[in-house]
Amino acid sequence: MEYKTLNGKNNAMPVLGLGVFRVENDDTAKEAVKHAIISGYRSIDTAAIYGNEEMVGLGIKEGLEATGISRDELFITSKLWMDSYGREHVEKGYQASLDKLGLDYLDLYLIHWPGLDESLMIETWKGMEDLYRADKVKHIGVSNFNIEHLEALKAQTSIKPEINQVEFQPYLTQASLRDYLKKEGIQMESWSPLMNGDILKNDIVNAIAKEHGKSPAQIVIRWNIENDVVVIPKSITPSRIEENIDVFDFALTPEEIEQISSLNEDKRMGPDPLEFTGE
Ligand code: NDP
Repeated sequence: MEYKTLNGKNNAMPVLGLGVFRVENDDTAKEAVKHAIISGYRSIDTAAIYGNEEMVGLGIKEGLEATGISRDELFITSKLWMDSYGREHVEKGYQASLDKLGLDYLDLYLIHWPGLDESLMIETWKGMEDLYRADKVKHIGVSNFNIEHLEALKAQTSIKPEINQVEFQPYLTQASLRDYLKKEGIQMESWSPLMNGDILKNDIVNAIAKEHGKSPAQIVIRWNIENDVVVIPKSITPSRIEENIDVFDFALTPEEIEQISSLNEDKRMGPDPLEFTGE
């Protein structure tokens, strides 16, 4: 595993983790997380709204038991949902996630979406700062924030988010947001990196995969890492969980990175952060 050092306290963030969006809160979640930890994953990305924190937590517990590694070798992320926005609600939302996960701290806690109410967004971030200052969480960040959201935080709050988790994939390369995040020292993290599987049929990706003797998924994951973007592909399939982490024994050429990046069409798969109300 390779790591990124974040601005906050000194535990570093793995460049690759397991995402668990749309994974049922049953043995599926538990087994996927456990298998990931046994396969070498050290980072898991869940969220209150995914409704699977209990079984993800059990998977973490069983993964730790199976490998003998300690909690501090893992990097666990969850996200605050919109029903808990507002400075006074953040700690309760955080505690609810911890209770479900069976953990006593998170490595990273994110505001899931900016929402449409700027003052509520600012107050919510102040609640995240409270958690951080009280040493209850290792790192705080945001998700689905555009430059204007981040500029509002910068003008009205005091701690900079360490992470912005956004949709980033070959058809949506977000060049201006990436440049901004780099300039501000905020780490970019990509969600839906495989476009839910759609990108795996692309001819260019398949040709590059053939060249390296790797799978299309491994090529797209590697493209994220080489773009300095932390990546969290989701899978509940044991062989794919193993395949998706087997990306540290090869590198793409600058030309291959450019070929994949040139697929950009500024095309979102998910909602537009300027419009999303959570409904
Ligand atoms: P992904 O782009 O990671 O795609 C997941 C899909 O690809 C699943 O259907 C999976 O199938 C399949 N897949 C995985 N690996 C392979 C492989 N090697 N070969 C072929 N198919 C494969 O989708 P997600 O939307 O889940 O995004 C990843 C994570 O990002 C989420 O799980 C979540 O943690 C986060 N996220 C965050 C959001 C936010 O607003 N902050 C929004 C959306 C996602 P199978 O599972 O059946 O193996």
